[in-house]
Amino acid sequence: MKKTVSSDRIKRDIEDINLSAMRNGDGITRLSYSTEHAMAIRYLAYECHQLGMSCHLDGIGNFIARLENDETACDSAYCLGSHIDSVINGGKFDGTGGIIVGIETLRILTERGVKTKHPLQLIAFTEEEGVRFNSALAGSRFFTGELDTEILKTWRTPEGDLLEALLTDFGKNLEDVLDGTLPKSSWNMDFFVEPHVEQGPVLAESRDILGIVTSITGTSMTEITFSGEANHAGTTPMGSRKDPVRGLIYVANLLERRVQKSGNITATIGKIQLEPNVSNVIPLKANFTVDLRSAESDVLCTLLQELEDWCNQAAQTWSLQYKIRTGHKVMPTEMDPQVQACLMECARKRGVPSRFMTSGAGHDALSMSAICPVGMIFVPSLGGKSHCPEESTNFDHLALAAEVIADFITAKDSKT
Ligand SMILES: [Zn+2]
Repeated sequence: MKKTVSSDRIKRDIEDINLSAMRNGDGITRLSYSTEHAMAIRYLAYECHQLGMSCHLDGIGNFIARLENDETACDSAYCLGSHIDSVINGGKFDGTGGIIVGIETLRILTERGVKTKHPLQLIAFTEEEGVRFNSALAGSRFFTGELDTEILKTWRTPEGDLLEALLTDFGKNLEDVLDGTLPKSSWNMDFFVEPHVEQGPVLAESRDILGIVTSITGTSMTEITFSGEANHAGTTPMGSRKDPVRGLIYVANLLERRVQKSGNITATIGKIQLEPNVSNVIPLKANFTVDLRSAESDVLCTLLQELEDWCNQAAQTWSLQYKIRTGHKVMPTEMDPQVQACLMECARKRGVPSRFMTSGAGHDALSMSAICPVGMIFVPSLGGKSHCPEESTNFDHLALAAEVIADFITAKDSKT
């Protein structure tokens, strides 16, 4: 593939913005509200100013750049964005790749002389990874109004720092939901499109360059505890036992069979704890977690109900008690069908090999779907690796994503 001006600029951006967050051999660490975060924002602000955009930070530290349109009739913005924070020892492309593709898209539009009827907006969300407050997508959920300011005031990092204190050092304040100069219409969006590296092997295996996301997978985390009677492993006959591990095995077996059969769900028993966990004692308790993920909400809901039914059957068969609790459940989020179709049409017209696919990981687009039509475009991750120093993506592929999104904006604008 030929190097383009876009791919050279993207390479420079990715290398420069990551310079301050690079740790020798340990990848990128850019936690929200760190010096590295502040330096990345300064970089973005400089590049966006070059494009004539005005730059703002909202109350939680999301970076918002905006280019007003000439006409006042259409104030709903065309918005691109992703996140700027990283995991500890993460890669150069997760989040950052999408923001840089966003900037490059705006450069392409400027060079083509495109003046859209709607304002253009770029958002670099903070705290998507949930590293600091164990709450993923915090920046985008604040932006969409899903997070309550009073609750945010209680948030602390594992080191004991209050979010409020970190924000004060960052020159921000949760009460100032809006930067005073940011127009209220910043929330009024025609669409939000998030470019992102795939973080998995699907595109690399199918040899496609772009993935148009159809939906973001729903996830649930269920904790199950079977309780029985602890007793001697040698003297208690098999017929007289109340062994909670039998319940665990029963549920695990049915779950495995069910997942093998349906194929559109993943199930993981990632944690098992036995009490007392001694080799010659029938346990008193067996506690385990079931992580379920599916892009189809009815599949997820049915399986959650089945889990409960299986627990009940196991309890009756082996005289056990059980507790089941689903602590976390996020339903699958559909991307806007029109956005999907238009992105795919633009990719095909440009001759870029592309496919529709689901996203197995959560993204800021999920939060944004609460306030506007959303779309996502994936670019291959080399070897499917992410959240590690080896994370890599071809700059030419990122450049193609920018070209396709620029075409998409032009196509949308011509229909306005
Ligand atoms: Zn990400």
